[in-house]
Amino acid sequence: RREWRRVMAVVEELEEACSTPVGRLRQVVDAMAVEMHAGLASEGGSKLKMLITFVDRLPNGSEKDTYYALDLGGTYFRVLRVQLGGDRSGILRHDVERQPIPQHLMTSTSEDLFDFIASSLQEFVQKEEGVSEASTVKKRELGFTFSFPVKQTSVSSGILIKWTKGFAIEDMVGRDVSECLQQAMSKKGLNMRVAALVNDTVGTMALGHYHDKDTVAAVIIGTGTNACYWERADAIIKCQGLLTTSGGMVINMEWGNFWSTHLPRTSYDIELDVDSPNPNDQGFEKMISGMYLGDIVRRVILRMSQEADIFGPVSPKLSEPFILRTPLMAAMHEDNSSDLREVARILNEVLGIPDVPLKVRKLVVKVCDVVTQRAARLAAAGTVGILKKIGRDGRGGVTSGRIKGGSHSKMRRTAVAIEGGLYTSYSMFREYMNEAMTEILGEDISPYVILKITEDGSGIGAALLAATYSSPG
Ligand code: ADP
Repeated sequence: RREWRRVMAVVEELEEACSTPVGRLRQVVDAMAVEMHAGLASEGGSKLKMLITFVDRLPNGSEKDTYYALDLGGTYFRVLRVQLGGDRSGILRHDVERQPIPQHLMTSTSEDLFDFIASSLQEFVQKEEGVSEASTVKKRELGFTFSFPVKQTSVSSGILIKWTKGFAIEDMVGRDVSECLQQAMSKKGLNMRVAALVNDTVGTMALGHYHDKDTVAAVIIGTGTNACYWERADAIIKCQGLLTTSGGMVINMEWGNFWSTHLPRTSYDIELDVDSPNPNDQGFEKMISGMYLGDIVRRVILRMSQEADIFGPVSPKLSEPFILRTPLMAAMHEDNSSDLREVARILNEVLGIPDVPLKVRKLVVKVCDVVTQRAARLAAAGTVGILKKIGRDGRGGVTSGRIKGGSHSKMRRTAVAIEGGLYTSYSMFREYMNEAMTEILGEDISPYVILKITEDGSGIGAALLAATYSSPG
């Protein structure tokens, strides 16, 4: 039937536009490495900000005692207490408390927000330590994970560049984030020092490194996406004369904003970008992360529905942005029932499309597959791009050119810490990403490169960094 052919054409066109053969992925790898270079060469030299973190040491297992962490970066904030055994005995215990941030505080004043946070922190400390212990404990050290764009001024301080994710506290922009927290804690009489102010990827990297010394980078693929990695200080050209004790430093890439003409872009991506509150921004993130994948699929289904009436009359729900959340899209993708019952249920209950024939349900699964596969393969290419920049892709660094054959004999074991709901909870995404890593690196090199899931790096990693950067005595 003509109707069916038209719908098939939409899906085939999508497949074609999203295709990521390994040759194209290698172009993305190269583009990532080149942009990293440009971002390190000068301020504003690339869409990649390549932010200096001042983290020039990573936890290694010798850390001892109790440290706190505060994780602020979304709708929840968390406080943690981590007890470290030292001498590689690891993390003896960790306690976490999670609280939603009251909506009104997200658009109030910095004083209100930090007073609230300091109160919660104080309550947590008293509960964990007991009232008697509290007064005798020496000054407590805190790692503060603040997942908004920050211009760091030291490992423990930095200035808020702008808010994202629904926060809008104008008086905070341009101010020192740690100082705001420090003031609020002093007001409460809470004896605690911000020892490290970090991005969540840096926390993940710290936790990865704590468990595995070969960890050279961290990638987060959740609601958003970002990555950081270990760079040689002398390669950070925009900071001439940067002195570090180790000769290296963690760089927060802010890779969600990566862009390259080699990225396989579709009309759906363009429309999603135009409709977003931040057009022309976060281009890589909009193809990869959990915030957007479901909405790309919604746009394709809307188009299929407009092309032919195999979905019946066009459901108004199909025009509602973000109505199809990524976990629901994943549930359709991973529906193993022979009659695709889950797909039918979600189409009906979420998108208001009842009675979709099995043949069409299969096409919907195909759409989910295409969109997720592209995302996972691009995330893999980005990750290999980092490895290429630091000469860990088995082919020599970008500057030293390719060494033909046998170069992997020098290949060192390389670990990348990885976190985020998309990778950890969406098995098809994870499998596609792992598969693409192997494809890009090749059978010889890929056994040396390990993607290692860490758990709660943004919280525990920050506490570990507080230990690394705690004041002596
Ligand atoms: P965040 O990035 O919000 O701090 P997470 O790393 O836990 O938190 O990621 C949560 C995101 O991961 C969700 O917004 C969602 O897009 C995605 N996600 C969570 N669970 C699943 C799932 N089962 N399938 C697909 N995506 C999921």
